[in-house]
Amino acid sequence: MHMATEMIIKPERCIGCSTCVLTCSLVHYGVFDPARASIRVDRDDFAGVFELCFSSTCNGCKQCARVCPSGALQLVEIEVTK
Ligand code: SF4
Ligand code: SF4
Repeated sequence: MHMATEMIIKPERCIGCSTCVLTCSLVHYGVFDPARASIRVDRDDFAGVFELCFSSTCNGCKQCARVCPSGALQLVEIEVTK
């Protein structure tokens, strides 16, 4: 058994700051460019909430979750049995 880090997503906590988006493009491309990020934050104006969408280019590095200030993206330690 060992511990592994998993990302959990609680979009209802998102405040739309885009820190995750900019961090993703920065760590992978060295630039602040939402177009190059693997996560997108969309505001649903009707419902007044944010939606978080990961693209197929996401490599699971979890850097976005390390910088999220609101707990919308969180890292948790889980036990893995094999
Ligand atoms: S986990 Fe995916 S979306 Fe988050 S920083 Fe890494 S590549 Fe980007
Ligand atoms: S998921 Fe977190 S870092 Fe990304 S926009 Fe929402 S609050 Fe900001």
